[in-house]
Amino acid sequence: NASLHELDPDVAAAVDAELHRQQSTLEMIASENFAPVAVLEAQGSVLTNKYAEGYPGRRYYGGCEHVDVIERLAIERIKELFGAEAANVQPHSGAQANAAAMFAVLSPGDTILGLNLAHGGHLTHGMKINFSGKLYNVAAYHVDAETGRVDMDEVERLAKEQRPKLIIAGWSAYPRQLDFAAFRRIADEVGAYLMVDMAHFAGLVAAGLHPSPVPHAHIVTTTTHKTLGGPRGGVILSTQELAKKINSAVFPGQQGGPLEHVIAAKAVSFKVAASEEFKERQQRTLAGSRILAERLTAADVTEHGVSVLSGGTDVHLVLVDLRDSELDGRQAEDRLHEVGITVNRNAIPNDPRPPMVTSGLRIGTPALATRGFQEADFREVADIIAEALKPSYDAESLRGRVSALAAAHPLYPGLK
Ligand code: PLP
Repeated sequence: NASLHELDPDVAAAVDAELHRQQSTLEMIASENFAPVAVLEAQGSVLTNKYAEGYPGRRYYGGCEHVDVIERLAIERIKELFGAEAANVQPHSGAQANAAAMFAVLSPGDTILGLNLAHGGHLTHGMKINFSGKLYNVAAYHVDAETGRVDMDEVERLAKEQRPKLIIAGWSAYPRQLDFAAFRRIADEVGAYLMVDMAHFAGLVAAGLHPSPVPHAHIVTTTTHKTLGGPRGGVILSTQELAKKINSAVFPGQQGGPLEHVIAAKAVSFKVAASEEFKERQQRTLAGSRILAERLTAADVTEHGVSVLSGGTDVHLVLVDLRDSELDGRQAEDRLHEVGITVNRNAIPNDPRPPMVTSGLRIGTPALATRGFQEADFREVADIIAEALKPSYDAESLRGRVSALAAAHPLYPGLK
């Protein structure tokens, strides 16, 4: 019964150091968030001990009466949250949700049509060395070089040429909203399924601040840890018609025992996501990214070749375009790290630099909004970022401004 600190001081020290890093720096990786303490508690519970292969009421193990209650709560809550007919809450991650969803409706060799990785798509949408690129024949659509927006004419043309069995709408790095109705129309024209991967913007959808893909798509996948603010994990929503196929694609198709401790944490986070407080947080998330886009566009940092892709944002992130800047993506990421702001470099459409270097930064606001940042705080963050991206910058003074913001919005004050 020894505590973590007693049993394994090495791991405990690294966990403590990570907590301190999260508390003392500004987290702006667009796919990250801070899960509530109640979510951490559920995920760290005795449920981790339980095997529960199967589904509530139909398990292959005894003693599942309590995990059944939990998994049913998670299913009902997320169905309600998004108005979905069916939900599978067992995928261990977003990638596994996508793998299982594809496994449910495709056979190896079938064609999929997704957004190109370098244009903002995810690895699982058809990257060459991902399972999706290896198992399926991939066609990829792109964003328009001028507007920075998905080219729906190209989607339609490729769909008619390639006759995909599945069209994937969704993204990991894209600052605008997709037209789900148009995707569905194209899918119907060529007899394809439409899958929307809303991993990034699910929290905005839950809050009613982004169009919902659920009425348009046959399948909607998501992660639970990005804007949704829950534990790391995945979920698949679908029509009732596809529910059986999807359940058997997840288990036994892709996975063994579900992580019931994570499912409990998912259930808690779905409860939070239905609250007014969550909606208010998503509003601040959006306001923050708009402020960031506006200020970076207006700041004299543009004189040094820094701009914002598509000229703004409708979501929780901005994509900084460094193609005309002396700074490449890696240097810019390092700069911000030096002043205490964590972001990730990101390939941008038609990026002249190699993938390990890139000419872009992806900057997101969900984690800071969760921390309680208000519009004035986001203005200050935007100004710090603009200063840090100039050829001459005062790292020490910027670090001080970052520390002041972090101190004004304590994170996990009860945790040590
Ligand atoms: N789908 C999208 C659009 C994503 O951005 C990501 C993760 O970044 C995933 C799926 C995969 O999620 P995970 O990292 O949980 O496998």
